[in-house]
Amino acid sequence: MALTVGVDVGGTKVLGGVVTADGEIIETSRRPTPKDAEHTARVIAEVVAELAAKHEIEAVGIGAAGYVDATRSVVLHAPNLAWRDEPLKARIEALVNLPVVVENDANAAAWAEYRHGAGKGSSHLVMITVGTGIGGGIVLDGALYRGAFGVAAEFGHIQVVRDGLPCGCGGRGCFEQYCSGKALLRQAKAGAERDPDGARRLLELAGGKSEDLQGQHVTQAAHEGDPIAVAAFRSIAEVLGQGLCDLVFSLDPDRFVVGGGVAEAGDLLFVPAIAAYEKAVHERGRKQVAEIRPAALVNWAGLVGAADLARVR
Ligand SMILES: [Zn+2]
Repeated sequence: MALTVGVDVGGTKVLGGVVTADGEIIETSRRPTPKDAEHTARVIAEVVAELAAKHEIEAVGIGAAGYVDATRSVVLHAPNLAWRDEPLKARIEALVNLPVVVENDANAAAWAEYRHGAGKGSSHLVMITVGTGIGGGIVLDGALYRGAFGVAAEFGHIQVVRDGLPCGCGGRGCFEQYCSGKALLRQAKAGAERDPDGARRLLELAGGKSEDLQGQHVTQAAHEGDPIAVAAFRSIAEVLGQGLCDLVFSLDPDRFVVGGGVAEAGDLLFVPAIAAYEKAVHERGRKQVAEIRPAALVNWAGLVGAADLARVR
C-alpha cells in the first residue's frame, strides 16, 4: 500500500507521521521547532528521513501554520514561525529527495476531517478551529478551496463588531476576538471581577486571583457548574453559532466540523453554539441546516491531511 509522510509544523513542535491511504498513522516522530528558518527546514528533513528509512515513502506533505502560495511551494508568511517567503518545497525536496507539497495547516486539517474524520460523507465541508484564535478550511464539491491569494477560510478576521476590540491582524472587531480561547478567558476574568461570589470555584482553581486564570480553569469550573465559567462558554458559543449561520449564507455547506482546543470542552461549547446557530438560520427562513459535528482527528488532523494531500498531489 502506498505510504506518504505528513508533517505538521507548529510554533512549538515538528510532528511527522507515516500515513496509509486509509488515513491510518503507523509511525510518528517529533522534534521541537527551531527558532530560525534554515534549522526548521533541516529538522523537517530529519523527521522525514527518519521515517523514510523504515518505510517505503512515496511523497511528503507539510502542513505549516502560515499563508502558502497557490502553487503549494512557498510559505509567504508564518506569524509564529521564522518564515518569510520561504521556498519550503524546494528546500525540503533538495534535502529528502522525495516529492513535497506544502499546505496551510488549517486547510490540511479540514482535508483530513473531510477524507477520514467527522466530514466523511459530506461534499461541501466547512471546518472551523477554535483555539487561541480561529482558523478554518473549506472543501467545496470534494476539492480543497484555497482562494486566489492563500487567505481563504481565514474566518477569524471577519469583522463581527464594528469598531470592536483590536486584533493582532491590525483590524478591529474580528470574529476571533469574541470567539476563541482568548475571548473565553477575557469573559471569565471580567465575570469573576464583577461577581467573585458567583465565580467562587473558578477563582479557587486560579489560586484566588482572577489575573492568574487560565483556559483549563474555565473549562474545569464550567464542567463543575460554576455559573460565571458556564456563562463565559455560552458567550463565545453564541458568537460561534451566529458565525456559522453567516457562513451558511456565503458557502452553504452540508457539514460543519468544529475543532481546536476550545472545542475539546464538548457540550459546554456545542450545545449553546448549535442552539444559537439553528435559531439564527431558522430566523432567516432556512429550513435545512448543515449539521455541526465535533472534529474527530483532533491533534492529528494536520499531519493526516498533509499526508493525504501529498498522495493526491
Ligand atoms: Zn483580526
